[in-house]
Amino acid sequence: VVLKVNEIFGPTIQGEGNDIGFRTWFVRFAGCDLRCGWCDTKYAQSTDDGNVMTDHEIVAQLNVRKCRRVCLTGGNPALYELGSLITRLHMRGFKVSVETQGTLWPKWFGAVDSLVISPKLGHTQAIESKEMLPPNAQLKVVVFNAVGYAQARDLHRKFPSTPMTIQTGTPLEGNLDLTEYRSLFESLASDEEMDGVRILPQLHVLVWGKRRGV
Ligand code: SF4
Repeated sequence: VVLKVNEIFGPTIQGEGNDIGFRTWFVRFAGCDLRCGWCDTKYAQSTDDGNVMTDHEIVAQLNVRKCRRVCLTGGNPALYELGSLITRLHMRGFKVSVETQGTLWPKWFGAVDSLVISPKLGHTQAIESKEMLPPNAQLKVVVFNAVGYAQARDLHRKFPSTPMTIQTGTPLEGNLDLTEYRSLFESLASDEEMDGVRILPQLHVLVWGKRRGV
């Protein structure tokens, strides 16, 4: 299996979603089937910007320091066949999460411990066509404003039993403006239909800013 890896970094702290705060390795696969204007990992959009690695080489790199959580991300990791990598990681005792935008649904999604679906505005058809999401899935919706909040609300209405995190987006440029954060926190606080949904800032961005490799 040919895997193209843009970067491997860690152990760092998971800054988003249900596993927020845990020490975690990140393996970022090269290539994405979308081109979002506000993408904060544009350097991983092309498969040209990656190194060819085998499952064995990836696992060996994650074994240099003790940290038994790994997040497979991108780009879109769903472009690749990762079943054997996940088997190998499980055999070594890793807890494996995957972060993907939900445009592609390979069979190996069923094998991961935590399937984090982070749909992008305007590209939610593949998710919305599903009757239900698998039991290992969680939704992580990056929301910058009221339009994004309404989209998150629609998704929660469609999949009420799938855990959801609203992840307040951080602008690519400029200082962090907490006004929008507050308004989103207040929207959720007063929204009875969204009871059970969690809202979080991007913890790693608050701590390290928009730096690569953390
Ligand atoms: S789906 Fe994610 S990785 Fe791909 S272009 Fe959009 S924000 Fe970037």
